[in-house]
Amino acid sequence: MDKLPELDLIWEQTLGWSPTPAHKNTFEQLYQEILEANRQFNLTRITSPRDFWEKHLWDSLAGVISPLLPRDQPLQVIDIGTGAGFPGIPIAIAFPHWQVTLLDSTRKKVNFLNNLSQHLHLTNVKAIAARAEELQKDQQYQNHYDLALIRAVGSATVCTEYTLPLVKKGGLAILYRGYWSVEENNELDKNLTTLSGKIETIQELTTPLSQSTRHYLCLRKV
Ligand code: SAM
Repeated sequence: MDKLPELDLIWEQTLGWSPTPAHKNTFEQLYQEILEANRQFNLTRITSPRDFWEKHLWDSLAGVISPLLPRDQPLQVIDIGTGAGFPGIPIAIAFPHWQVTLLDSTRKKVNFLNNLSQHLHLTNVKAIAARAEELQKDQQYQNHYDLALIRAVGSATVCTEYTLPLVKKGGLAILYRGYWSVEENNELDKNLTTLSGKIETIQELTTPLSQSTRHYLCLRKV
């Protein structure tokens, strides 16, 4: 059976955060459950232990380990277009005092995620089947979250349109991007004012195993 690599030093050196033995157990369980479910239906193409560690675990946490985020406070978080639970699930494991809502338009994925959360004893996670455009019309969810996350769902403008309406004033949206160009930046800048947002920071990191570029755009709702 393939197991996740032990890369404690890399966590510490790159993100200044180290998983506890309990975190590592739950990450391993998460990995095994996803591999198992992947045999029944297509959840993710990232399945080798090192790829899973880097592209699903490390990348998910890299987006939120930032001085801008009050890590010790109990935040209301939503992960939009979560798919197999990324970045939301690793974040819920690492920060059990954050309440994490996983949103996806595919019912089958949401059912999987609710079962997975039960198996992993993640009492701070709930998954909802809905489209982001629909959810933001619902008063219960509109302007509700401290933090909205989105990875691999569409253009930066679309990601902003999906996230910011769900974030409360003063809250943050984090867009997980690979390559980031001046053109994308200009396009986003043009659309941000109508969505009551501003770019707070853009963090560029190199992934520790395959040396790929990642950008984490942090937007503030104003
Ligand atoms: N965020 C995950 C990741 O990075 O591994 C999954 C990315 S996957 C490419 C995109 C996911 O977004 C799919 O699971 C899809 O069902 C969901 N999705 C696409 N449009 C959506 C929308 N408007 N509202 C909610 N979910 C959406």
